Amino acid sequence: CGIVGYVGAQSALDVVIAGLKRLEYRGYDSAGIAVLADGELANAKKAGKLVNLEKELVGHPLPAGSTGLGHTRWATHGGPTDVNAHPHLDNSGRVAVVHNGIIENFAALRAELAGRGHRLESETDTEVVAHLLAERFSATGGGLAEAMRQVCRRLEGAFTLVAVHADEPDVVVGARRNSPLVVGVGEGENFLASDVAAFIAHTRSAIELGQDQVVELRRDEVTVTDFHGAPADVRAYHVDWDA
Ligand code: GLU
Repeated sequence: CGIVGYVGAQSALDVVIAGLKRLEYRGYDSAGIAVLADGELANAKKAGKLVNLEKELVGHPLPAGSTGLGHTRWATHGGPTDVNAHPHLDNSGRVAVVHNGIIENFAALRAELAGRGHRLESETDTEVVAHLLAERFSATGGGLAEAMRQVCRRLEGAFTLVAVHADEPDVVVGARRNSPLVVGVGEGENFLASDVAAFIAHTRSAIELGQDQVVELRRDEVTVTDFHGAPADVRAYHVDWDA
């Protein structure tokens, strides 16, 4: 439902939670966050309102990191439980992904992954993406953006995806098809969100991703390609409305 990603110098936890609050108006049934810190991925997710997640974070604080992502979920596949909340991780716990939309061919992908020994823990259509990304990341050595392009070519349906990998701690990757994704371009920091409202407290310089595009975000770099790696034309604009 709502997605926020961040890479920069600020606390990713603070930026992502504040961004998710700006998206609360859309309605949701659960929320979660993942942060990269010291080469490890840490995450927290809770059914219910963001305040439940915030309480969880008080009881079990995440280590401080400046790369992260978060999600407010509107369940379509699997009930609104802690386990089904996003982010979803692969079995190594090195990849985290959040998703808006529906992966139509998830059942076939789940069966395929189970056949290769993956253990899927949730009832969501989303979790397959974390496992596929981990596989492609290891197999290609081409980085998370290349893994995302390869995975997106296998997905059917509607999706906004944002992912991080613990082996690429200064990178956030996003992708979209039939569902919106916007980049917020900052100075020494960059943002990803399903809606500009999530980052306009930080920057009003935005790039709207086009259909079937992948974006790789680093602190000082935004690279957009199509699902086959060809450089893509981007539509940059200034957000001039007040929110
Ligand atoms: N289909 C996914 C799920 O049920 C994502 C739902 C959403 O867009 O929030 O987990």
